[in-house]
Amino acid sequence: MIIINTSHILPDTPYLLDGTESADILEIPPDADPPLAPAGDITYHLSAVMAGADLIVTGKASVPLATVCARCLDDIRVTIAVKDLCFHFEKVRDLEVDLTDEVREELLLAFPSCFYCSPDCKGICPMCGANLNHASCACDTQQAEPEPDAAAPSPWDQLDALNLAPEKPAKKTIAKKPAEKKPAAKSSPAKPAAKKADAKPAAKKPAAKKKSKE
Ligand SMILES: [Zn+2]
Ligand SMILES: [Zn+2]
Repeated sequence: MIIINTSHILPDTPYLLDGTESADILEIPPDADPPLAPAGDITYHLSAVMAGADLIVTGKASVPLATVCARCLDDIRVTIAVKDLCFHFEKVRDLEVDLTDEVREELLLAFPSCFYCSPDCKGICPMCGANLNHASCACDTQQAEPEPDAAAPSPWDQLDALNLAPEKPAKKTIAKKPAEKKPAAKSSPAKPAAKKADAKPAAKKPAAKKKSKE
């Protein structure tokens, strides 16, 4: 219990409260996964002043923890520290104020989602499991990536085969055009022109023939 009796706080004089508290108050589950357990007591350094009938407490608290690095799985000790504690209790003159829950909550809020042995932990080799912080291994992890890529080309080959089928007919049609082409290269423009030319004479000739016959 972290308790301040406000009757002990003198006017205009910070009341200092230093001590330790069992980390059991954090209520960390014993079967936490990844493993996480207190490695010592909570330490706190608090300073309390009264503002009228109100109590203002500032200070810091920390707790050591035993856990594992999220990257390399090494056992590690980390310290959770909160340096800007600030609590405000209204109308607590001449009362005992229990700060335990407040300190507990602030420490728990400071827990990171993952713990690392160091910010630049190299982790473990995905192939042999070696801890790359302690030793380098002979595995070529860059070769491991091309292997799946080597398997991938078969789907790409199939796609290429699918593309070849449409391309061949396309080439054949193109090849036929060139055959007629020297006449027909201009054929795409020339054919419509030829049709028009055929159509006009065809219409005119019968008409002319009819007229001439009549
Ligand atoms: Zn690590
Ligand atoms: Zn390796």
